[in-house]
Amino acid sequence: MIYLDNAATTMPFEAVLETFREVSSLCFGNAASNHGIGRKASHILENSRKKLLSLTKLEKTHNLLFTSGATEANNLAIKGVALQYQGRGKRIITTSYEHPSVLRAFEELEKRYQFDVVYLSPRQDGVIHPEDLAAALNQETILVSIMWVNNEIGTINDLAALKKVIADYPKCFFHVDVTQGLGKMEGDFASADLLSFSGHKFGGLKGTGGLFYKKGISFAPLCNGGDQEEGIRPGTVNVGGAASLAEALTISYQTMDDFSSRSKAFYSELYSFFSKIDGVVLNSFPLNASQTPFIINIGLTEKKASVVVEALSNQDIYVSSVSACSTKSHASYVIEALGKDQRIAENSIRISFGHTTSEEDIAHFEKAFEKTLKGVFSR
Ligand code: PMP
Repeated sequence: MIYLDNAATTMPFEAVLETFREVSSLCFGNAASNHGIGRKASHILENSRKKLLSLTKLEKTHNLLFTSGATEANNLAIKGVALQYQGRGKRIITTSYEHPSVLRAFEELEKRYQFDVVYLSPRQDGVIHPEDLAAALNQETILVSIMWVNNEIGTINDLAALKKVIADYPKCFFHVDVTQGLGKMEGDFASADLLSFSGHKFGGLKGTGGLFYKKGISFAPLCNGGDQEEGIRPGTVNVGGAASLAEALTISYQTMDDFSSRSKAFYSELYSFFSKIDGVVLNSFPLNASQTPFIINIGLTEKKASVVVEALSNQDIYVSSVSACSTKSHASYVIEALGKDQRIAENSIRISFGHTTSEEDIAHFEKAFEKTLKGVFSR
């Protein structure tokens, strides 16, 4: 198997699976129970929280809520904060190339709660420019949500530069979806008031994730229940999941430099490979400060991306056409947002690396891709 769809999900680290199993069997107590086995579970939960806050260097300024992943964390951050602070103003800002869990949360606030939503577009370099954000901000703005790394093209937004602009508006919160970058590269996390993530993107388990939030922020509850997670995210906490999440991020940080240098080599290799192939255009950019080395996106001018992806899948090679979260629509709204031709937006392919990716995988992929592209009929 050649698995090059790590932006959709990653294979869990062995140690993550072991941690989940060990904690879930040996410390299966309810972390809210007031007895020995409950306290043992609660101790593991709090240690996992501390570890995650310390790895991200957020322990002094932020808290962490465990959630089922980034979708829930995005909803909690956006709807929870907008509804809680709507008395201050009803203007909220996001971008046109966010993940659907951000875009649909904004749509909900607009349609059901009459918020005034502004969508910023990335410029042709795939990045949100601070000047464009500055022009959209006003005294009524209470929330800005801008992703860190884009999940389809791998461009990186400069969190510190965006925060600098938002800082002129002290009533406004800054939310960042860090799902695609966390555990893969260092970031200016302290620039954000709220940060959402999912464990399965960096060797953790599906159904684990969280929301970092600056101490003192309060939320309108999306779910009502017990007092777990400060009552903001009620329900019996998945202690095994929390411990496995801390383990996944620990390993990711330990191996980050190695992952980064290997990814850079894979990216450069594929970038020059694709540049030489007729009928392929690059939607991602040459490696620079605003392009991650672990996601590369191409467009096909003559062939159907879905057919090529399927033909590769039949050879046990896995890449993605559009994003796994929006495969029902035919065109990528992210590629459209870059102002690319409709044909390219409908026929884009994403190749993404993870901790399992090897040099041999890339070499094998290149051979198979070239052969497959020739073998597939033109549209
Ligand atoms: N945000 C981004 C940028 C993502 O790539 C994803 C996963 N595709 C999510 C949010 C949602 O994560 P999950 O499906 O784990 O909730």
